[in-house]
Amino acid sequence: MFQCKSLAREITTFVASYQSLNEVERKALKQFGEGIEAHQVVKQARTLLVPPCGSNVRYGGGAKERAKEREALGLATSQDEDVINGIACAWCAAPLQSISSTLGVTATYCSQECTEQGRIHRGSSSSLRIQMFSLEAGVCRRCHVNAHALYLRILSMAPAERLNALCDAKWRLPQSRVALNNLLSNPRECDFWEVDHIVAVIEGGGDCDLGNLRTLCVPCHKLETERLRNRLKLVQASRSVENDKRQLDIRSAFTRADDNTKKQRKEPIVIDYKIY
Ligand code: ZN
Repeated sequence: MFQCKSLAREITTFVASYQSLNEVERKALKQFGEGIEAHQVVKQARTLLVPPCGSNVRYGGGAKERAKEREALGLATSQDEDVINGIACAWCAAPLQSISSTLGVTATYCSQECTEQGRIHRGSSSSLRIQMFSLEAGVCRRCHVNAHALYLRILSMAPAERLNALCDAKWRLPQSRVALNNLLSNPRECDFWEVDHIVAVIEGGGDCDLGNLRTLCVPCHKLETERLRNRLKLVQASRSVENDKRQLDIRSAFTRADDNTKKQRKEPIVIDYKIY
């Protein structure tokens, strides 16, 4: 009886912890594939996510980008040539020939893992969107609106009905007339949701894994961008205050030096005349 109760408690804790995770964290946990104690679920999921590496570059690239760089410098190896010619994996440079001949298609990546990494790091925002959509289905992680469902609904309407529907959905409309007209006449998926870096690229969140990415609806993304802009302004302002202080210090150092010189000059010059 006691065992049943403790098992039930363990299951309840596990389910509650798992439900509190976002899709990226759940994916990391599924890939981990090992047993985890219920009270460790959240901690373990977050440990598995790779933290931002401090890069200010949006996409770090894979084997193909590195091979092309070396080719441009005349330093390409035979493996680089294989990658460039599509017979080695564009992410890890492993040979592809057997995969391509088995499947009868031209493969770009050697494994599912390389496909995912390549889509995230190789500089294609559409691939990144596919990756994030498969996990979060276009639901905003900030306000939880299903932006993709709203896009499909608006798209199915006549243009004249769209404005009312967006207002009913409490969608924050774009402020510029051109952007609003475009949204109403030709709604696109990217007008409704975007992929956002949780730690901004400029703040070191570039070339990151899925753990630093999230889906945001366009209005929430605009708010986050505005916050980032304000943060950057503050950083810039504090840097210029620091610079001003440093310049003042340099000037005061010179002033003190001048004062000392003046003081020294005011003192009577004593010449020690010696008669030999
Ligand atoms: Zn939102």
